[in-house]
Amino acid sequence: MTGGCSCGAVRYRLTSEPLFVHCCHCLNCQRQTGSAFVINILIETDCVELLGEEPQAVSVPRSGGKKQKIWRCPTCQVAVYSQYTSPRVRFVRAGTLDEPSAVAPDVHIFTRSKLPWVVLSDDVPAFDVYYDTQKLWPAESLRRIDALRAASRR
Ligand SMILES: [Zn+2]
Ligand SMILES: [Zn+2]
Repeated sequence: MTGGCSCGAVRYRLTSEPLFVHCCHCLNCQRQTGSAFVINILIETDCVELLGEEPQAVSVPRSGGKKQKIWRCPTCQVAVYSQYTSPRVRFVRAGTLDEPSAVAPDVHIFTRSKLPWVVLSDDVPAFDVYYDTQKLWPAESLRRIDALRAASRR
C-alpha cells in the first residue's frame, strides 16, 4: 500500500500488512484531525518506507499533559503518521493512503466520545476506552509485536 501528503512531497510505502487498524473516537484525535475520528494503521516503523521527502515531527499536546509526535509534510503540513509510546510502531493515518478503502477498522476505541451521528456496525468490536491486545490481535500480529519488544531489549 502506498500513500502520501496532499502536495506529493511526502510519499510512503507500507512493506507489510497492518498489525491492526484502529478507528479512534477520542477527543484528542477529534481535535487533531478536525473530524469525528482518526483511522490509524498500526505498523512497524521499519515497514514504513519513505519514497519522497522526510516528514517533520511536531510535538502536539494531548489532554493530561502528555505530548504526542505527529509527522507532517514540511511543505503542505498534512499529517501522515504519529507515534504514541514505542518509537518502533507508527500509527499511519489511513486517510492518506492512495486508496483509503484498502483498510477497514479492526476495532473502534474511545467510543465514549464518539459523535452520536456516527453509527457503528455490530461486526467490528467497539470499546468505551481501550481493549486487550492479547484478546483481539491476530496471532501473527502478536508474534510481530513480540519480535519488536525482543529487538528493543537487545
Ligand atoms: Zn505535502
Ligand atoms: Zn484517539
